[in-house]
Amino acid sequence: MASDKTIIIGNWKMNFNMQEASLYLHKLAENVKVRRSVEVILAPTTLTLQSLSMQINRRQFKLAAQNFYWRDHGAFTGEVSARQLNGIVEYALIGHSERRHIFHETDKDIRNKVQAAVRNKIRPVLLIGETAWEKSNGETEAVLQDQLVGGLLNLTSEELESVVIGYEPVWAIGTGDKAIPSDVVKAIRTIRNHVKHLYGKVAAENIPVLYGGSVDADSAADYLSQPGVDGLVIGGASIDLHAFTSIISKAHQINQEEKK
Ligand code: PEP
Repeated sequence: MASDKTIIIGNWKMNFNMQEASLYLHKLAENVKVRRSVEVILAPTTLTLQSLSMQINRRQFKLAAQNFYWRDHGAFTGEVSARQLNGIVEYALIGHSERRHIFHETDKDIRNKVQAAVRNKIRPVLLIGETAWEKSNGETEAVLQDQLVGGLLNLTSEELESVVIGYEPVWAIGTGDKAIPSDVVKAIRTIRNHVKHLYGKVAAENIPVLYGGSVDADSAADYLSQPGVDGLVIGGASIDLHAFTSIISKAHQINQEEKK
């Protein structure tokens, strides 16, 4: 494991209104013990972030933005900046496949966001992964390399220390299609090799790399127990209280076993 803590991110996507989000957080807080072994990060919709930030026990959960605009301020109607999120969230998801594919975000947009997050003391969670077509053409390694280089360009070694990488094959997100754990290990090894090439051995060993893609309570342990997997990004199963609670307790168990 690159870090002592296993990272579990719940990406709620465009689910839960304010009341539902608050109630869910209340119930989750009752189910989950404060543990030093697992960093539980919740990524609700932007609208609910500020009020959840007042409800949350920050020793128990952290908040992540699902999205923001990379400029700090200005005439950008409808947008929210990392500067405005500072103090509310500790992390931000960047480069999620839904942002890349539905909202056409480019590697340039993504690296601008990584830099904006770092500039505003928010830890970027850079999400990368290949499409089904790219996988079937044997392009996974090249895609991971391009998205890493594209997202991290101009970032110093010191700035890289706040970055978390998430490997999320596009074909596995929200589809129920499960990646084979040994393929995940291989992809994560590729990611660390590229980080090594760009920033050196220590950075490659230390950077947290997570897996995401249709992980549920039944499959979480299969991924968490793989070498090089420092945690999970959970979409659909994170809005199911029982499933998410169970994933967090599995993360705790596996983390403790690995430390023995
Ligand atoms: C995600 O949105 O990052 C994700 C992994 O979703 P799901 O778990 O639903 O595949």
